[in-house]
Amino acid sequence: MESKIETHSFKTEVQQLLHLIINSLYSNKEIFLRELISNASDAIDKLRFNAQTQAEILGADTNFQIRIAVDEKNRTLEISDNGIGMSYQEVLDNIGTIAKSGTAEFMKALEQSKKQDTLTPELIGQFGVGFYSAFMVSEKITLISKAAGEDTAVKWESSGDGEFTIAETTKDSRGTTIILKLKALEEGEEDFAKEWVLRNIVSKHSDFVAYPIVMEIEKEGKKEDETLNSMKAIWARSKNEVSEDEYKEFYKHLSHDWNDPLTHLHFKLEGVTEYDALLYIPSRAPFDMFGVERKHGVRLYCKRVFIMDDCKELMPDYLRFVKGVVDAPDLNLNVSREILQQDRLVQNIRKNLIKKVLDLLANMEKEQFETFYKEFGQVLKEGVYIDRENKDKIADLLRYQTSKSDGKLISLKDYIVNMKAEQQEIYYITGDNMTMLINSPHLEALKDKDYEVLLMVDPVDEWVVQSLNEYQGKKIRSAEKGDLELDKDKKDDKELEAFRALFGFVKSKLDDKVKEVKASTHLKDSVCCLSGDADDMSAYMEKLFKATGGKVPEVKRILELNTNHPVISKINQMFESDRDNPKLKDYSELLLDIAIISEGGKIGNPAKFNKTVAELMAAAL
Ligand code: ADP
Ligand code: MG
Repeated sequence: MESKIETHSFKTEVQQLLHLIINSLYSNKEIFLRELISNASDAIDKLRFNAQTQAEILGADTNFQIRIAVDEKNRTLEISDNGIGMSYQEVLDNIGTIAKSGTAEFMKALEQSKKQDTLTPELIGQFGVGFYSAFMVSEKITLISKAAGEDTAVKWESSGDGEFTIAETTKDSRGTTIILKLKALEEGEEDFAKEWVLRNIVSKHSDFVAYPIVMEIEKEGKKEDETLNSMKAIWARSKNEVSEDEYKEFYKHLSHDWNDPLTHLHFKLEGVTEYDALLYIPSRAPFDMFGVERKHGVRLYCKRVFIMDDCKELMPDYLRFVKGVVDAPDLNLNVSREILQQDRLVQNIRKNLIKKVLDLLANMEKEQFETFYKEFGQVLKEGVYIDRENKDKIADLLRYQTSKSDGKLISLKDYIVNMKAEQQEIYYITGDNMTMLINSPHLEALKDKDYEVLLMVDPVDEWVVQSLNEYQGKKIRSAEKGDLELDKDKKDDKELEAFRALFGFVKSKLDDKVKEVKASTHLKDSVCCLSGDADDMSAYMEKLFKATGGKVPEVKRILELNTNHPVISKINQMFESDRDNPKLKDYSELLLDIAIISEGGKIGNPAKFNKTVAELMAAAL
């Protein structure tokens, strides 16, 4: 008894994905089974989690299992679970679209992969499109699902050709059944209609799944149930019993990532706080690293009983890339998320996990760490201003390019080792463009002294330097804001006195566009630049704020003039001999324009600039 059958088109991005999946050269097709089993296992987890607060949804059906049934003659394969199931609307929302938050990124990645004409596992994995992988092996997929607590069921069907049908239907038991009509067997391909093939795939990819994966097999004409997986919780086993492959497979099951992890950390803590943990650092950042809907972090178990997914209370946000399992035997089984936050045991575990992860990162080999840093460095940096307690440890992990490192990343520790004997402070400059930073006039005086400058192009670096202040007792100072105290003692005040009147004059001619005109401590070869006071917002910070729609109070900049430059001495001579010379106003404006242009800014009156420069050139040529 089915209701009216509705036909829908897949969202564009799904159509493109399906096209790629079906025509892809992807060789490891067997993983479709892992994906469907993972979904089934997730669905049972979800049911059990919800049942903690709504016991009635469980009903009598508590023999949790995942069933596989294969019909070799008709080439059909069924995967069923008695998990949470899906309502009509949930099927529409979950099957037929791609995680909403990632659509734009997905389309971008898709474009890229289309050029190469292959669907890489990285791509599939990154976007959690696990279910669709079944189209690699199926000519038609039928999904029948009945959500916990509902009376009617829903039937979804598609041949992966751009459309699917959906209708209400009936189903005896709660949960989801997926029926694959397998493609005709091709030369050299694995036959997924064969029992022994399926048995091998399950033990290779899904052995540790916490629920029995049961296949009905024919033995001497009789049907018999066989459990295909050992269900051994990997994290509860001792390290030397678990193979590298098992660790990897478990990671893929857990994280919905198809790539191997970068590394893992497996340990047992004993004492006052007891727990088992198996943590992974992924090798690639997921597309939604900075999205709000991100999930699949650390799972919490109590004596191997699943408690919750993505337990944010166990891992701070700046370590949100860590995946894994924590099993704490002393935990109250009925904890809610609200209680977790205040739970002392959870707080202790969290503290301890942070330490373990930071130590793991600190002890990584250089190459591995650089891979990690490239993918997750931006996230880790958030810890510098969020986690006061571990600030120094995180600072040890920071890496930057510098004015002297030739594109290589160096640590603050190395920076200090490389410091010149008389150098007192650590210098940095922020901005969005590496080339511009390296060539910034603000660095001239520092370069002249052969001091190294950290080049920071990550928006979060602005916050990092603000909360770091110093490292190993050395002050961290902006190369762009405030005065550099490089030659404090040598500065000849009398010499500067000669320019003081000129500075006041230039400022008055600039209609208060700058808050001060002064002698530069930054410049060596350039004639002028703009800077800020030490506690002003940096030019880059201002740009970032504006880009996010933030309101920035207009802070006037300081125009710095290089008193050692012949242009400034000549203007000064002109000024001293005739203060009413109309050219002085033009030159004042010109100096400001040059300073703006040299930091990539827009000048107020380009036509006037053009004219003044042309006149000067004509006179000089
Ligand atoms: P992911 O598992 O990474 O979320 P999938 O494409 O594998 O992506 O599945 C999409 C969504 O469909 C799942 O998040 C889940 O909400 C739903 N789903 C898939 N299979 C099942 C199932 N067996 N039972 C309940 N819901 C399911
Ligand atoms: Mg999945």
